[in-house]
Amino acid sequence: MISRRECVKWALALPATVGLARGAMAQAGPKVPQKVAQYQETPKGNQKCDLCKYFIAGSSPTANGTCQLVEGSISPNGWCALFAAKA
Ligand code: SF4
Repeated sequence: MISRRECVKWALALPATVGLARGAMAQAGPKVPQKVAQYQETPKGNQKCDLCKYFIAGSSPTANGTCQLVEGSISPNGWCALFAAKA
């Protein structure tokens, strides 16, 4: 369970985190923790990781992959606040 205080802290930090994450991508720097990116295992509306330009697919269409910006195993049906649609 995430406390209200932590949610507020992350909400305030997220815009800066987005900028840092995108900058880090260009420099192959450290990734953003899932909690900070507000990662969830389910889509948000019609947005999901396998439609995001930062998603790196796993061994099959349903297997977890990775993300260029966010740490750890990433579900193709997941979502986070750094979502950016593929062109
Ligand atoms: S939605 Fe977030 S976790 Fe998913 S691929 Fe895009 S940046 Fe990575």
